[in-house]
Amino acid sequence: MKTAEIKRRFLAHFAANGHTVVPSAPLPAIEDPNLLFINAGMVQFVPYFLGQRTPPYDRAASVQKCIRTPDIDEVGKTSRHGTFFQMNGNFSFGDYFKAGAIPLAWELSTKPVSEGGFGLDGDKIWATVYLDDDEAIEIWHKTVGLPLDRIVRRGKKDNYWSMGIPGPAGPCSELYYDRGSDYGPEGGPDVDEDRFLEFWNLVFMQYEIADVRSKEDFRVVRELPSKNIDTGMGLERIASILQGVDNLYEIDEVRPILSLAAELTGRQYGAKSGHVAGESHPDDVRLRVIADHVRTALMLIGDGVTPSNEGRGYVLRRIMRRAIRAMRLLGWQEPALPLLLPVARDCMAPSYPELATDFDRISQYAYAEEDAFLSTLRAGTTILDTAISDARGAGQASLSGDKAFQLHDTYGFPIDLTLEIAAEQGLSVDQEGFRRLMADQRARAKADAQARKTGHADLSSYRAAFDSGGPVEFTGYHEVTRESRVRSVLSSGGVALPAAGEGETIELVLDATPFYAEGGGQQADQGLITVGGGQVEVLDVQQPLPGLIVHKARVVRGEVRPGDTGYAEIDVTRRKAISRSHTATHLVHQTMRNFLGESATQAGSLNAPGRLRFDFNTPGAVPPSVLHDVEQQVNEVLLGDLEVHAFITSQEEARRLGAMALFGEKYGDEVRVVEVGDYARELCGGTHVSRSGQLGLVKILSEASIGSGVRRVEALVGIDAFGYLAREHLLVSRLAELYRVPNDQVAERVEQTVTQLRDAEKELEKLRAQLVLGGAASLASSAREVGGIAYVGTEAPEGAGGNDVRTLAQEIRGKIDPARPAVVAVAARAGGKASLVVAVNQAARGRGVSASDLVKGALSGRGGGSPDLAQGGGLPATEAPRLLASVEQALATES
Ligand code: ATP
Ligand code: MG
Repeated sequence: MKTAEIKRRFLAHFAANGHTVVPSAPLPAIEDPNLLFINAGMVQFVPYFLGQRTPPYDRAASVQKCIRTPDIDEVGKTSRHGTFFQMNGNFSFGDYFKAGAIPLAWELSTKPVSEGGFGLDGDKIWATVYLDDDEAIEIWHKTVGLPLDRIVRRGKKDNYWSMGIPGPAGPCSELYYDRGSDYGPEGGPDVDEDRFLEFWNLVFMQYEIADVRSKEDFRVVRELPSKNIDTGMGLERIASILQGVDNLYEIDEVRPILSLAAELTGRQYGAKSGHVAGESHPDDVRLRVIADHVRTALMLIGDGVTPSNEGRGYVLRRIMRRAIRAMRLLGWQEPALPLLLPVARDCMAPSYPELATDFDRISQYAYAEEDAFLSTLRAGTTILDTAISDARGAGQASLSGDKAFQLHDTYGFPIDLTLEIAAEQGLSVDQEGFRRLMADQRARAKADAQARKTGHADLSSYRAAFDSGGPVEFTGYHEVTRESRVRSVLSSGGVALPAAGEGETIELVLDATPFYAEGGGQQADQGLITVGGGQVEVLDVQQPLPGLIVHKARVVRGEVRPGDTGYAEIDVTRRKAISRSHTATHLVHQTMRNFLGESATQAGSLNAPGRLRFDFNTPGAVPPSVLHDVEQQVNEVLLGDLEVHAFITSQEEARRLGAMALFGEKYGDEVRVVEVGDYARELCGGTHVSRSGQLGLVKILSEASIGSGVRRVEALVGIDAFGYLAREHLLVSRLAELYRVPNDQVAERVEQTVTQLRDAEKELEKLRAQLVLGGAASLASSAREVGGIAYVGTEAPEGAGGNDVRTLAQEIRGKIDPARPAVVAVAARAGGKASLVVAVNQAARGRGVSASDLVKGALSGRGGGSPDLAQGGGLPATEAPRLLASVEQALATES
């Protein structure tokens, strides 16, 4: 059964049982600061499970795209771990519980294929349950009919689910399929998890837990009044079972990539391995890694991630490099992605058609990344070759850890490649030293990350602040002041305080607030909160948990306590300037797309008072003429004075209206749409002006690259834009005044002046050379006999360049009778340094005199040239006379 069909049957089964089918959220988990990627189907429903939002349905089902970075190292070595995989899931929000979930899973798994099920042999299915979950055992045994010897009790590590924080938790029950004796020993999941393959996990959210010290150490507070179900069935795992293949790299959605990689590298996949993944030949493991990683890269770039050196982009870069590297280790040196990626696309497009329509963009990023990495490999190889021959030359048997680390750190050259190439040349590598340097670097990076966390490391006090009153109401779309109760006062480290006094830096939570928390690229509001006799100055506003608005503030006078009534007022001037920037960003975004096409999507933005930064994806530089047109069009929209309007609607309606929904936007029940007339329409939670005319003016300042395929424009808005143009105008007027020309002729005039200046410099150069050379004849005639040789020693006139000095020495030599052996030495001072040129004629050379010997003698080895003409320098300027003296001395003693 094809993977796409399995997916269809899964959704159909649960739709027929009253579930609403919900689309997959995009891979980047932008709403959760602790998560890079969505790693389970339940992630997009977390606010429902935590009771922060009311679910619009009681039952839902989805096929969620997932990435689990901790599993990357397992890929290819087990039969069941992909970096990217899809999780089929059914969810109940306070509706059915164990007695509903277990039979629903059993029914779909074992129903005959002809009746829409998966047709698994029920005799091969095992179930695990949590130690004391007799209720689940009862259902498995009595309702479903599973014999007790195929129901296994397991502990917290395997069969208890929680999020590692206070909140919902509960036992799980997993379904395993016995693949038979070819895959491992008897004995059930406790004995062998590759033979007994986990394909479905049912989580029963039954309890509320607190005092969480670890995933296994916590206190159960109470039984939840409203219990939930969260299940996850690995789509690839069930596909590997139903397609009768050994592992999930051999299913229809992955195998074609693997096969092509094998063909390109001339391997016969599987020829040297049996059924057990853990005992596979390394080449087969590599082919699986390639197939998995290429598919994962496709899905990631498809969801808007681009290669970079940190965060999500770094994960992408790492897996792409691993795939390319594995191809290389198998002997393929050429770019591989132009061949492999289209195959991955053809595998996945039936389920994700946008991969095909967007493939131009996706492949541009992928191919560029591979090209860059291949040239890194080439450069690194050259450096490594040099290091190897140096080490050899010095008689060493191994390459230093320093060198290996430098190659890794500076050139991104992988250590395994260093090892391999060194080994080919008969050298070992100081791996111990390398690892030590790596560990040092990791420690530095960790300390750095810790420092940047700005006191948000521990979320528990925020969680408590949230729990004691639910989401904080944001009223700032419509008002700039608000009276509200102080819910909690926290120290800046996040500890709840009974009160805070003057001078203290605190974090304040109100029940409702007009203060906008930094988010969606928009900077936070600032302002004042007056409480009783006290007053706090709000410096920053953040949202450490979704729905919890925290004011970072300083108490300027009096005292503030939880329960006080506060009067919050934002700095309106700042807010207005930020709102102008935010609306301007929407206009710049839309206009960029008008000119560059749909693929110019937002990659990040900053909306600050009076200025904005907008990052977007596009393969090359934006030509100045396009930038000019963008700016012009944006300003025309301002003149149109369009109404800016925000409204809440369903996700579907927003899409129907063509709102720009960025990859980060999560599917949910309701979204906020901001539209500027009919010109721009975008999902957005930020604040905006009410008419485009209020922006006044938008001035684009610059456009530059900030990474491969990502460009950044910076612009000024409103009075800041005006101020900038006014200053520029003043500057031009001042130049015009200086040049005594009208403003529009300044450029021409500057150009003329520059040309004139350059001509004058050339002229000056010529005159100076003439001056220097003018003295040549009289200097020649002043030659003295030293050791039987005609010798001229002189200092060049001030300001003579290196060329002048050489020419002067040759000129003097030319003016001395060729029949006389002659040596000319010219010393010069320039830039605080002394230099020396020595010219020797034919007759003197006949007597064994060499210019380069003389220079080297005078400069103790520094300098060189031919026997006729040599030069050197680098000594302090005051040494010039001594240089001449030492040449003369050498001639005197030579004879
Ligand atoms: P395992 O112990 O095999 O790693 P898990 O306990 O981490 O699995 P869950 O967190 O329960 O798995 O996820 C639910 C389901 O998702 C699993 O039953 C499995 O079918 C699937 N799954 C989990 N991780 C992966 C992966 N890396 N690749 C493919 N499928 C996976
Ligand atoms: Mg796992």
